[in-house]
Order: sequence, then C-alpha cells, then structure tokens
Amino acid sequence: MWRRVASLSHILSPSKSSALHQGICRRTVWEAFTTDIMHPAIGGVASEEKNPLITFVLGGPGSGKGTQCAKIVETFGYKHLSAGDLLRKEISSNSENGAMILDTIKEGKIVPSEMTVKLIQKEIESSDNHKFLIDGFPRCEENRIAFEQIIGMEPNIVLFFDCPEDEMVKRVLSRNEGRVDDNIDTIKKRLKVFAALNLPVIKHYTEKGKVYKINGVGTADEIFKQVHPIFTELFVK
Ligand code: UDP
Ligand code: MG
Repeated sequence: MWRRVASLSHILSPSKSSALHQGICRRTVWEAFTTDIMHPAIGGVASEEKNPLITFVLGGPGSGKGTQCAKIVETFGYKHLSAGDLLRKEISSNSENGAMILDTIKEGKIVPSEMTVKLIQKEIESSDNHKFLIDGFPRCEENRIAFEQIIGMEPNIVLFFDCPEDEMVKRVLSRNEGRVDDNIDTIKKRLKVFAALNLPVIKHYTEKGKVYKINGVGTADEIFKQVHPIFTELFVK
C-alpha cells in the first residue's frame, strides 16, 4: 500500500521558468501530441501487472542527478535508467541512429523523443523491478508528452536538483568521464537548453504538486539527507 504524506508539502516550491523556447523540440510531433487524445498502450508498461512507480530525476548538467540516483538505488532498491547513458549505449553499439545521436549530444541538443522513450520503454519492460528512477528525462515538453503518450502514465514524483550554473560548470569540467559534451562550449549550450526547455517541464509538474525541489549544493551525503526523507516518508511500504 502506497500513500502520499502531506507533511512533505513544505519541500515543494514553485520553480522559476524561462518561457524561452528555442524550437529544438520538433514542432510537428509536439502539435500532434497536444491535439491527440491520450491512448495508453494496452498491456504495456502501465498495465495492471507491471504498475511501475516512476520518479523523474531532473536538474541541469552537473547538478548531481547521477550521484544521487546511485544512492537511491543502494538505499531503496530502485532501478536507475539514465537517458543520457542509454543514448551513449546506442552510440557505442553502432546502432543505425548512433551517428545522429552523437551529433545531437555534441551540440547539447535533444534527441527525438520517440527514440529516447523507446529506449526507456524497453528497459522498463525488461526489468524485474517496478521502481524506476528516470534520470535526465524528460528534457522538454515534447519529451514529456511523448513519454505520457507512449508509456501511458505520468511520473509519481519528480526530483529537481537545483544548483547554481557556476557550480554545475565547475563540476562538469572536473569530472573527467571522457564525454564529448563535457567541454565549456557544449556546457554553455546545455545550460541554455536546460533553462529554455527543461524548466517548463519542472514548472508543469510543480503545478501538479509532483516536484520535490532539492538544494543541489553541498557534499553528496549532505544532499542525500534531503533526498532520503522523500523516499522514506512519501510512501508507506
Ligand atoms: N539527451 C537527450 N535526451 C535525453 C537525455 C539526454 O537528448 O532524454 C542528450 C542531450 O544532448 C544531453 C546529453 O544527452 O545534453 C547528455 O545527457 P545526460 O543526462 O547524460 O547529461 P547531464 O546533462 O545530466 O550532464
Ligand atoms: Mg547524468
């Protein structure tokens, strides 16, 4: 039995959003999704037997999403699905879309929604777990609508790691993971895309009362002290 605990409402706070839209999300698909009635796939991810618990984990590049996801996995047994990692796996497996995905990531832009949602869907469907952290997705309103349309459900909650830009830049430049997009030029582009396209997603879910905003400054353990009660108090196991 799972239930929401009202005492956590103090963690909720409205997010500031830039209304900018750079047109990176593909307009035609967006329009199709906004005019269509939602028809979740029968027997898919959102079916009775699967009934997954979905947490979206959002925040700018270097805001600590991956680090905190590892701690949530260790403590609460969630399955971690990093959208960026799934896309990088597509590149290294020489899939037909690999070259396009690589170019998109190098530019700090957003990969077409259906592609990312399909990768996430495959992981959810093939997992024995029913609790998922979806890290770094959805990155724009079109991503969000595509997920809700294809998967047929919304996230139960959304974590938002709020971190100042100078701190995020410092972390990304010092993490040395050999990523093609961890250079100052691409980071600047990613930060712009985050402010223009991802903040509206956070605003959308804030209005629905689903967002838990976390101060992303501090050590990993300090930040996890804010994350921990969300998972222990939010649901009664
Ligand atoms: N990306 C994307 N769609 C997603 C997730 C990632 O297009 O749903 C691309 C995008 O170009 C992004 C890059 O992959 O800048 C790296 O994403 P990741 O979440 O790994 O990095 P972060 O921004 O958290 O450092
Ligand atoms: Mg990451």
